[in-house]
Order: sequence, then C-alpha cells, then structure tokens
Amino acid sequence: MQFDTDPHPEIREAIFKLCDSFGLNYWLECDNDERFPTEFFAALREGGWTGIYFPQEFGGSGSSFTAAVTMIQAIAESGSGWTGGGSIHHYLFTPHPIVVYGTPEQKRRFLPPLAQGIERPCMALTEPNTGLDTTRLSTRALRSGDHYIMNGEKVWTTGAMIADRMLVLARTRPVQETPRPIDGLTLFYTAIDRRYVDVRPIKKHGYQANASCQVLINDLPVPVQDRIGEEGKGFRYLLDGLNPERVTAAAMAVGVGRFVVKKASVYATERVVFGRPIGQNQAVQLPLAQCWAELEAANLMVYKAAAMYDAGLPCGVEANAAKFLAAEAAQKACRQAMITHGGFGFAKEFHVERLLREIMIPVLAPVAQSLALCYIAERELGMPKSY
Ligand SMILES: Cc1cc2nc3c(=O)[nH]c(=O)nc-3n(C[C@H](O)[C@H](O)[C@H](O)COP(=O)(O)OP(=O)(O)OC[C@H]3O[C@@H](n4cnc5c(N)ncnc54)[C@H](O)[C@@H]3O)c2cc1C
Repeated sequence: MQFDTDPHPEIREAIFKLCDSFGLNYWLECDNDERFPTEFFAALREGGWTGIYFPQEFGGSGSSFTAAVTMIQAIAESGSGWTGGGSIHHYLFTPHPIVVYGTPEQKRRFLPPLAQGIERPCMALTEPNTGLDTTRLSTRALRSGDHYIMNGEKVWTTGAMIADRMLVLARTRPVQETPRPIDGLTLFYTAIDRRYVDVRPIKKHGYQANASCQVLINDLPVPVQDRIGEEGKGFRYLLDGLNPERVTAAAMAVGVGRFVVKKASVYATERVVFGRPIGQNQAVQLPLAQCWAELEAANLMVYKAAAMYDAGLPCGVEANAAKFLAAEAAQKACRQAMITHGGFGFAKEFHVERLLREIMIPVLAPVAQSLALCYIAERELGMPKSY
C-alpha cells in the first residue's frame, strides 16, 4: 500500500496559520472556564473546514479522509490538543453512516447544515451498564405508527450539551429474539428534544472545554424518517464510522505528542541548571529523542490506515494499531515533557499539564487499548476471539 505522511502540506500550513490567532492561553482559558472554544470553531466554520469530509453535492469540499486526518492533526499539533481538535472531531466520522447509508432525502436534510457547521452532531453510543460490549446496550426504540418511542441512558456523550442532533444506537428487537447480539440494533440521527432528553455534564479529568455527558432519554419521539438504513442493522452501519474515529484520534494524539516534544526540547535548550542547558545532559535529551522516534513511527500507521480507508480497503487492524501506538507514544511524550519542565511542568501556565490530562483520552477511548490489541490478535494473528 502506497501512502504519504505529508500528503497535504497546504492544509497543515493553512491550519497552523488559523491556529496562530488562538494562543496557548486561549486553550488554557477554555479549559479553566469549562467553555467551548466558540471563536475557534467559528473560524473553522468560516474557513469551510467543517465540510472537509462531506460530499461536494451536500455543501462539503469532498476531500479525502487523509486530508481530514491532516487537518485535525495540525489542529492538535498547534498546541490546542483535544480542546481545539475536539471541537471539530465529530464532523469527521459521526455523520459518515448518513453519507453511506442515508436516503437521498436524509442526505439533503442532514448533511448541508453539518458541512456548513451550522448544526452540531454528537454520538450517543456508550451506556453505563454495557461499556465496550456495545451489542448488549439497553436503550430501546419501540415503533408506534410513524414514530419510534425511545427510552434509555447513554453516558460520555461528548458535546451533548450543545449538539442539535445525536447519532444514537438503540435496540428495536430484544437481544433474546435475535440470531446474534449485533442484530436488532437500529441507528437514528435525531434531534435532541430537551423536553424528553435530560443532559447532564460529567465532572472529568481533562478536556473541560467540551462537556461529556450523561444523557437520559425518556419517551423521546423519533420520526421514522430519522432512522438510518434498515431496522435492526444499525450496528453494521455504525462500524463504517468507527475506523475513522480511531484514526482521527490517533492523528490528534501524534499531533499532541509532537507539540510537547518540541516544547520540551526548546525548554531544555533554554533552561540553565548547574551552569549549562539541561538539554545538554543525555538523560534529558535521549528520552525526548525516543519519544520523537516513537511518535513518527506511530504516524506511519496513522497515514497507512487513512490511505487504506480512502482506497476502500479493510483497515480495522491498521486503525486499531494506529490508535494503540499513537496513544502510547503520545502519553509517554506528555509525561516526558512534564519531567523535562521539572516543577514548572506542573504549573498551568506552561501548558504541558493540560495536555498530559487530555492525552488520557485516546488511551481510554474511543476503544480501550486492550480491546484494540484483542482485535489485532484475532484478525491479524488468527487467535480466538477473546471479547
Ligand atoms: C473523554 C471521553 C469522551 C468520550 N466520548 C464519547 C462519545 O462522544 N460518545 C460515546 O458513545 N462514548 C464516548 N466515550 C466513551 C468511551 O468510548 C468508552 O469509555 C470506552 O468505549 C470504554 O468503555 P467503558 O468506559 O464503559 O469501559 P468498560 O467496558 O467498563 O471497560 C473498562 C476497562 O476494562 C478493560 N476491558 C473490558 N473488557 C475487556 C476485555 N474483554 N478484554 C480486555 N480488557 C477489557 C479495558 O481496559 C477497559 O478500559 C468517551 C469517553 C471518554 C473518556
């Protein structure tokens, strides 16, 4: 498989230029104040970036997935991390099942406001009692004439406080009545009508600018027209969007890692202790050089997976490997960057502590590191399925 790790230098340049107007203190303030980066998102929307991975006929720019990966990596790499990247992340994968499986009417109704950044999506998949075992989820949608009535509880739905619509997976047939647990699950893209949906932010470790939420769904009427594809096949449709989610998370992780390694290297060159720059000590240099090497190696897998996805090839193994490698490398890089900054690394004004908090996200989500490896063990190494 041919691929390039710098396929769109013009995108990187344009994004870095846009991000220059939003300094590191902007991201810190958004985090401190638990405030969505509205101004930054407006700049992305005005620049047409929200539509990067939407078809042109629905208002997008029809660029490749690799181009979208390049964009979100550059946003994270500017120093914004998840605080900036997370503001646009869902535009790159959540609507994808609509693009692939939606009816022409649904595409006309749903995609243009998303491509233009006028509407905000969120993804309500995870449930408190099922975790990674998604097929066991218990949110139900019962057909009643031209509507379904939905009841259930979702958790960690990021952006639900400010989203207009949610992509939500619900059971339309009890698991006991289906041949396999993946059957009987149906996908909807529907309005978050707050008369029936109670959204509560979760107090969390980092990424305070975009609330992750508990979502209580109580008799929500969902029009049949909001169902994506056939009833009972939703899990299969959703799978289409999961690999892009993993690859974009991996790309962001590499971006964060690159930023902190560069920042720590500059600090190590300028900070003088014992009469010389601390970076002159190999104990300071070598761990940062190793972090650089591990990040760039992970990045190869990121762009390989993206290229395979663009070519329409199965890329589950590569997407999981990219997510695993990038999360490990980036977490190590953030830790090493804080060590390099010494006590000052613990101070908010040096910005590394925010990124060290945020970098736990790709370690934990969208899928656990252990499950990413389980997938590789099964699909690539031919071992028995373990989950
Ligand atoms: C900041 C953040 C944002 C998120 N945003 C969203 C969102 O927008 N929408 C959404 O739907 N979800 C979201 N999530 C949820 C996320 O996708 C889940 O947390 C993740 O899928 C893991 O599920 P869980 O936390 O329930 O872990 P559990 O399923 O409870 O697993 C806990 C741990 O057990 C281990 N484990 C479990 N089963 C196995 C096994 N069979 N083999 C080996 N190890 C195993 C794993 O290491 C895992 O970390 C978000 C999470 C975070 C932290």
